[in-house]
Amino acid sequence: LPQWRRSAQRDAKTGLANSMHWDRLAVDELRRAESRKNPTAVLLLDLDHFKRVNDDLGHLAGDSVLAAVALLLRTNIRRGDLVGRFGGEEFVILLPATGSSEAEAIAQRVRRSVAALRVPLTTADGSPHELVGLTVSIGVATTQRFGYELPDLLAAADSALLAAKGSGRNLVTMA
Ligand code: C2E
Ligand code: C2E
Repeated sequence: LPQWRRSAQRDAKTGLANSMHWDRLAVDELRRAESRKNPTAVLLLDLDHFKRVNDDLGHLAGDSVLAAVALLLRTNIRRGDLVGRFGGEEFVILLPATGSSEAEAIAQRVRRSVAALRVPLTTADGSPHELVGLTVSIGVATTQRFGYELPDLLAAADSALLAAKGSGRNLVTMA
């Protein structure tokens, strides 16, 4: 693809699909899944207490954290799965041909990998520093319960995400 086209589809900070591009890919995938009656899952992820990283360590540190999480998602999820960034500290994953018990296991795998992540940072005085203890909350919605319309799936995943946040964070909640 030409560079101008790629940059319209990718989020500059993380290299992931941006929300508009992800949306388009997700709708296409859901149409295919619906006609084949394949189950599909949507994971909505939000980094816990991300504002503290930006406030305490600066937004360059915040950007390093976002890039590290994006890399982790890309290397811990199959190539055919759709990973996107919805802006801020929110990410989204669509898993084709995945039922709810698999989706929950995959979400738990991602949650554990984020909790184990160590992000190398450089402080303002140039000294090396590692951020540990980052966590993520994840809401999961499946076509088995919510059908193949993307807005319905995202709304359900968002409610589940809110529930995960409300129950103490660093959690996976099924819609
Ligand atoms: P598992 O890790 O317990 O995964 C069980 C099933 O969940 C997989 O069955 C697959 O249907 C689904 N699944 C797990 N992770 C992903 C993912 O990132 N994306 C998607 N779309 N689906 C996922 P499957 O394919 O029959 O694999 C059976 C077992 O084989 C897996 O059990 C795992 O132990 C191993 N395996 C398969 N592919 C890989 C891989 O790329 N890396 C690793 N480390 N193990 C793999
Ligand atoms: P990939 O399919 O793109 O998967 C990328 C990474 O997602 C894997 O890296 C693994 O961390 C995670 N992953 C994907 N599927 C599963 C799964 O079912 N269970 C678990 N626990 N993790 C999963 P990894 O393991 O380093 O594998 C790199 C690549 O090697 C994979 O890329 C895939 O192309 C291939 N591969 C590894 N194991 C298997 C396998 O059991 N069957 C097949 N068909 N391919 C495999």
